[in-house]
Amino acid sequence: MNSVYIAFGGNLGDVLSNFRSARQHIARLAGVHVIQSSRLYRTPPLGPSGQPDYLNAVIAAESELKPFALLTALQNIERQHGRIRAEHWGARTLDLDIIAMDSLAIDDERLSIPHPQMHHRQFVLRPLCDIEPNWQHPNLNKTASQLLNALLLAGEPALPQGIAW
Ligand code: ATP
Ligand code: MG
Ligand code: MG
Repeated sequence: MNSVYIAFGGNLGDVLSNFRSARQHIARLAGVHVIQSSRLYRTPPLGPSGQPDYLNAVIAAESELKPFALLTALQNIERQHGRIRAEHWGARTLDLDIIAMDSLAIDDERLSIPHPQMHHRQFVLRPLCDIEPNWQHPNLNKTASQLLNALLLAGEPALPQGIAW
């Protein structure tokens, strides 16, 4: 059994409704129990300009699935919610990324854990800190809250307060 943190992102269609539905789909996966949800944040888009703002959140789950099985299950859920991969970092209905699985470190073409960009992204670290500020990055040896503080100290404006969903 692993504690896993899954990041939700989206900026096309009814994103909140997709997030709620995806959370239910994850909860229905055999061997996966959703434990907690972060608040929901509105965040500026990354990548191609002219996109709508994103919504972002993180959930914590207990999972018996192996990392690649979890990735496949999440990609199926993305597809069921209309995800089409066109432009890199382009607008999307639903993105489900595995942020971390306990202190596991995987570096594979198909799957990197912890997510390789997580420590640069307030839209991941802020919601992760709602749930588990003391989560420890296995390679950087810093906690989620230390990583978030590093971005804020570097001058990034803090995200506005999130809301329950
Ligand atoms: P980013 O990874 O920068 O957030 P993205 O989420 O938009 O970008 P996707 O199109 O969703 O990228 O995924 C591209 C590929 O990333 C997937 O096919 C998947 O195999 C790979 N991948 C690697 N590590 C992870 C991870 N930790 N969680 C989800 N996908 C991952
Ligand atoms: Mg992503
Ligand atoms: Mg993704």
